[in-house]
Amino acid sequence: MTNDNAFSELGLGSDATEREVKAAWRRLVSQWHPDRNSSADAVARMQRINRAFEEIRNAGFRASPEVADPPVDEPAETQAEEEPTEPRRRPIQRKVKLTLEEAASGCIKALRGRTTLTCATCDGAGHQVLGGNCTHCGGSGAIAKRNFFGWPGGMTECAACHGGGIAQRTCPDCQGAGTQVRAYQLKVRIPPGVRQGDLLHVDGRRARGNPPPADLEIRVELLAHEFFELDEDGTIRCEVPVDGFAWIANRTIDVPTLMGLKQVALRRDRLSYSLPGLGFPAKRRGANADHIVIVKPVFPEALTAEQEHLLSHLIASASGEGGEPTDKRLRAWSRKQRAWARGAGRASKEQ
Ligand SMILES: [Zn+2]
Ligand SMILES: [Zn+2]
Repeated sequence: MTNDNAFSELGLGSDATEREVKAAWRRLVSQWHPDRNSSADAVARMQRINRAFEEIRNAGFRASPEVADPPVDEPAETQAEEEPTEPRRRPIQRKVKLTLEEAASGCIKALRGRTTLTCATCDGAGHQVLGGNCTHCGGSGAIAKRNFFGWPGGMTECAACHGGGIAQRTCPDCQGAGTQVRAYQLKVRIPPGVRQGDLLHVDGRRARGNPPPADLEIRVELLAHEFFELDEDGTIRCEVPVDGFAWIANRTIDVPTLMGLKQVALRRDRLSYSLPGLGFPAKRRGANADHIVIVKPVFPEALTAEQEHLLSHLIASASGEGGEPTDKRLRAWSRKQRAWARGAGRASKEQ
């Protein structure tokens, strides 16, 4: 912002004194402070007012001729919190979507985005001071208001010079918006073990190439996985359908884990298998929890003639002399069931 621009932002000529600058600034602050002004551009206008004030102050105030005046117009100490300070840019809020595999091992993500910046050409004012008197108001900063019938009805601030009286033009780089849209691009390193909803803070100044104009606050979103469920403690659960015959035969099968395919030796007496250290990190950058495989044995819905034949053989092979099961657990059950059936038979006759 040139100094003339700064004065004009406060609606002043460039020869305004310290007292006039402070008075104008206070008047505009009370008018545009977002606490008091709900219009959409109050925040932006407030920032411009503060920047203008700071610009003039930094350049050195013109001495007020009436220095001996009582200090009623001087900003009081209690207004210190309204003293303009360079507004710190808030971090840019972003989301990053990660697969469980990416989140487990950590990864590098390229992020692109757009952000709205204060226009550098006009420093957010939306206009540039051309110098000389405003041709619309002749330099007075005010024009006669006309009512519905075209009759004069008081004065209103000149829109062409925003009441400053100095000729201006709309900023050609932002078309008067005071802002410009800028694209940014950066690579972000995601540490291993981030979880849903985690916030990662990225220092925007460290980005190379096309850095963002502020820091980034990145919220992690974990994508639902086709196979895996993630527990709070980092345990991964995965249901795997297996060939029922292979399961009975204690065969070894491939199962998916976060680290790729791993072999599991099936046992016909087990449906759940734990693979230590192949789960998700228990905590960020920590050791991995376990991977739990739950097998779902699948048998043919319809048997072929050959399968019927082979199964008959299998069943026969499990029976000894007189059709008694060879397995002692089945023999014990079979005896108990016969005894129970005899008792139940008596009971039904007595009724
Ligand atoms: Zn004007
Ligand atoms: Zn501009």
